[in-house]
Amino acid sequence: MKQCSKCKKRKDENEFGKNRTRADGLRIWCRECESEYARERYEKKRGSVKKYNNYKDLHRVAGGVKQKRCGRCKKWKAENQYYQHSRHKDGLAVWCKECANTATNSCRRRRAVKS
Ligand SMILES: [Zn+2]
Ligand SMILES: [Zn+2]
Repeated sequence: MKQCSKCKKRKDENEFGKNRTRADGLRIWCRECESEYARERYEKKRGSVKKYNNYKDLHRVAGGVKQKRCGRCKKWKAENQYYQHSRHKDGLAVWCKECANTATNSCRRRRAVKS
């Protein structure tokens, strides 16, 4: 019998996978925990795929016009309502022009107050 270091249950040696680098030649986690871990990792991977879907959620075509959802005002706006942003996947800024202008204006105003 060997105790699993993850679930702390005592299980038969054949419930553990092999690990030649260990003194007892067995893995420290039982097979059940190993597969649980593998599944978690798989689901995390799928989570990152979800992120990619999120990217799709921010884009749509309405009335033949490509639109993007603004990350600030959350409104759907035509792609030409966004500034170009070459580093982004879609080549567009996250915020619409209106929001971007509002942000820079308030920034300028703050700077103006300072000087
Ligand atoms: Zn276990
Ligand atoms: Zn906006």
